[in-house]
This record gives sequence, structure tokens and C-alpha cells, in this order.
Amino acid sequence: MIVMKFGGTSLGDPAAIRKCAEIVERHLSKKPLVVVSAHSKVTDMLLDAARAAVKGDVDGPFERIRKRHHDILDGLGLPSDTIEKNMKELHDLLRGISMVKEVTPRTLDYAASFGERMSSKAFAAYMRKRGIENAEAINAYDLGLVTDSRFTNARPLAESYERIPKAFEPHRHKLVILTGFIAKDKNGDITTIGRSGSDYTAAIFGAALGAEEIQVWKDVLGILTADPTIVPAARPIERMSFAEASELAYYGAEVLHPSTIIPAVKAGIPIRVLHTFDPEAPGTIICDRCEPNGAHPVKSIVYKEDQILVNITSTRMLMAEGFMAKIFNVLERHRIVIDMISTSEVSVSLTTDSEEGLDAACEEMREFATVDVEKGKAIFAVVGEGMRNTIGMAAKTFSAVAEAGVNIRMISQGASEINIAFLVDNKDIPATVRSLHRKFFGI
Ligand code: ASP
Ligand code: MG
Repeated sequence: MIVMKFGGTSLGDPAAIRKCAEIVERHLSKKPLVVVSAHSKVTDMLLDAARAAVKGDVDGPFERIRKRHHDILDGLGLPSDTIEKNMKELHDLLRGISMVKEVTPRTLDYAASFGERMSSKAFAAYMRKRGIENAEAINAYDLGLVTDSRFTNARPLAESYERIPKAFEPHRHKLVILTGFIAKDKNGDITTIGRSGSDYTAAIFGAALGAEEIQVWKDVLGILTADPTIVPAARPIERMSFAEASELAYYGAEVLHPSTIIPAVKAGIPIRVLHTFDPEAPGTIICDRCEPNGAHPVKSIVYKEDQILVNITSTRMLMAEGFMAKIFNVLERHRIVIDMISTSEVSVSLTTDSEEGLDAACEEMREFATVDVEKGKAIFAVVGEGMRNTIGMAAKTFSAVAEAGVNIRMISQGASEINIAFLVDNKDIPATVRSLHRKFFGI
């Protein structure tokens, strides 16, 4: 079997949904399990509706959500009662929120869940209409996906991997259309696994069911050599390793939800990123063994903007014993997630994007250090397995940045040697991307 995941834009309107249906039909012999996101924009609409309900504004946002869905059903020639039960439940929920005048993360997840619950019903009904009578929408939590109770960003529990195959068994002969993004915790409350989490759902089910391949259908040609809005000549990377893909996801490539790779690596299942609107294009395959990119040791250039640089200098001349431990202790207590770090004899520099809690953490560290914070930075990473065996990659990287007239604030190279990461100002992003792409890809 294979897993085929379709994103929000791929399910954004009736014409797009028709394309997805044709793609599924072409893969029927491989016994696909289909995972769907909500129709594009719907998750945001639902979250906004929940927040508006706190202020007593229920019917306006609700009607907009209803219209968005009914327009799609109409366009597919499906009756609006396909999702009527969900609509009623959503309306009740919004009214409930307006009565208690409060919205908790738990309620937000409940509200957001309607997006995938309804899109899966619409897609299954449409597949049945096209003659695939055994198409059936099933919620991921009814097929064994259990998470912890960290609402809005819940983590799947390991037991899911045992429950899923058992729960799926009676449905093996069907075309299952599964909800991405949503799950339940052990109390039976609905959770979500983080924005854009449907990729992750696809990987979890792929791993749990031993799929041959996890296909992620999107509105891009694959994983690209650079951000195409800055380098229009950026091109899709045909093959990449799990390690390369993990580095890219970590450093901000938005093509895959960062956790997606983990279950796939563990189970050794290739992930293929494909284009719904150009389904014959090769896309990108991420797999276990992946030869370097021939002439190009670098596979891709990625960046993550709006990072915060924190410089911590010991107030004594030399770093006192336990200085590092103290720093990490404070950061951990305030749940500050660190991306890059570099140290010298008297100072530690690190980057994070966690704004929440940062002020409090800095205040605490000021008891034993001088701390300054600079916002508006961008982390860049140049990634490729081929870099490990190629001399002069750092020189090439930094000369490209220097040629762009850009100042580097911090540098780090992971022990795996498949990436070089550094920090610049947000405003220098375009010049840096262009210069690196020219240096490594000649365009
Ligand atoms: N619908 C969810 C979101 O918009 C999950 C997803 O699209 O993967 O974040
Ligand atoms: Mg999405």
C-alpha cells in the first residue's frame, strides 16, 4: 500500500479536487490510504470563528465557513447534507463559546478539527460519486492515532503505532479518506498536532502500516534549490537523503512539516513530494540511500527569518564553572528552544524564535551575566551530503556572502558536516540567497 496526502491548496476548489481524484484513481492498484488537509484557508477561518465567538460574534463567521464548504460541494455536484451534522455541531460549539466567553487551547483544537472532518467527508463522497463505492471518510482518531494532551501542538503517543494497524485491518479493502492534522488524547478530547500537521499524519500512518511510499501532493514542484520567490530559476531537487531533508526542515524549508521525516526515517519509507497540478513531474524523493547531486555537493539553500540573537557574556573575566549549566537551566525552565549556539571564553551566543518567556529568561540571566538581545535575524543553512567530502565548502559559502556585501553574525557547522549555518540580518535575505545560489548552482 501507499499513503497519498493532499494539502489544503490541492483541495482548495472543485477543479483542484477533481485533479486529486484523478490522481488517486491512477494509483488505485497500489491500494492508497488518502490523507487530507482542510480546504485551503478553512483552518484559519475556524480558529478565527472560535475567537470571534468569545466576543459574541457567532453567525457571521459561521455562515462564511458554511458557504465555503457549500460552494465546494455544489461545484462537485454533491448534496450539502454531506457535512450537515458537522455544521450543526460546529454551530453549537461556537454558540457554546459565546456563552462561556472563553476559548481554551482545547476548544481551539475542537474548532479546528472540523476542517479535516468536513474535507474528508466531501472528498470521500466525491470519490463515491465517481464510482469508487467503497470510499469512506474516517477520522484519524478512530483509526488508532492517540496523542498527549498538549492542545494545538500534541505529540503522538508511541502506542499509536500498535493501535493503527489493528484499527485499520477491517478497512483494508476500502478506499479510506483519512483526516490529517487531528487526533484525540487519552481522555477522548480532540487534539491537533501543529499547523500543517497533515504531512505528519501521513508519515505516522505510513510508518504504522508499513507503506511502500508516502506521497505528499502539494502545489509546488518538489523541494527546491532555493526560495523561488527570490531565485525564480530555483529548481526541484530530484533526490535527497533523510538527513538532508531533516536539516532543510529544521532550518525552515516549508515544504514538509518538520516532524514528518521522523516516522519515515524510523520505518525506512521513502517520501515523495509531488505537484497536484503537474502530476507527471518527477517531484522530489526523500529516501534512505541517496547519492550526492553529481556536480553539486550542495542540494539546497534555506533560511528562517525573524530569529532572535541572544548574547550572554559572563560578568567575570573568565567563564566561571557552571556558567553554561546555569544558562541552560534558565532557558529550559522558560521553554526557550535554541537553534544555533556558539561559545567563546567569556560569552555564549545563541538564537531562538521563542519570544514567549524570553524577557523573563533574560532577566534571570542578568543576575550572573550581561545579556543583550537583537531581533530581526535570519538563519541560513547550506545543505548537502556532498559537502562532507568536498574541500573548501565553507570558503565558498562565506565568500558568496561577502560578495553580496552581507555581514555574518554567527556561524555553526553541525558535526554531520552536511550543513553550514550562519546568521545575518533579515534585510540581507534576498542578496544572500541570490549570491549563494549563483555560487553553488551557477544561476
Ligand atoms: N489544516 C491544517 C492547517 O492548515 C493542517 C494542514 O494543512 O496540514 O494547518
Ligand atoms: Mg496546509
